[in-house]
Amino acid sequence: MKVLVVEDERKIAGFLQRGLEDEGHRVDVVGDLASARALEIEAYDLLLVDRSLPDGDGVDFIRSLRARRATVPAICLTARDRVEDRVAGLQAGADDYLVKPFAFDELLARIAAVLRRTRGTDALRIGDLTLDVAGRRVSRAGVELRLTTREFDLLRYLAEHRGRVLSRTRLLEAVWDTTHDPGTNTVDVYVSYLRAKVDKGFDPPLLHTVRGVGYVLEDRER
Ligand code: CA
Repeated sequence: MKVLVVEDERKIAGFLQRGLEDEGHRVDVVGDLASARALEIEAYDLLLVDRSLPDGDGVDFIRSLRARRATVPAICLTARDRVEDRVAGLQAGADDYLVKPFAFDELLARIAAVLRRTRGTDALRIGDLTLDVAGRRVSRAGVELRLTTREFDLLRYLAEHRGRVLSRTRLLEAVWDTTHDPGTNTVDVYVSYLRAKVDKGFDPPLLHTVRGVGYVLEDRER
């Protein structure tokens, strides 16, 4: 999972980054709202946002994301613990609110709970394609498909953003965690692997190329 930490206190940011990386997540850290706003937020699976930042309140950042319908789960981190502060955070669209200092285990438990709520425990379904995210299993029309880890991650990202055209750059960033193509046309190569498993022999095709833009996973017959 890719996590963005917006936190200006270096000690806390470092603590979060190390802890989350130890859990196998990829973590980016920025120290102010301007830097956070410059990022492509939807490439992240989770945001951890401090409230007292040098250039403003993290809650305003979450509110502006929700205003433009960004649904990425966000947890507010703050030293403020008055009830009205919690309410403000949640009303702004934060999915949870954690008061500093907190134990790392508590953060992990909150993250798990937020992801369960926001993703649901249900499988992702696009037409007759089903992804069991927790079990990392994929089937189409009841036939189990065998995907590599990377293929699964790519399909999952496309499925989580179904119906939206995703650029190669965005897919590289989200699935390979890089903006620099490690090979030649890595994304195109993996999309062709996926097509061979997900679409070949099935109807209709679900994985579409949008020329000059990128790829989209959708059932166009619905
Ligand atoms: Ca702060």
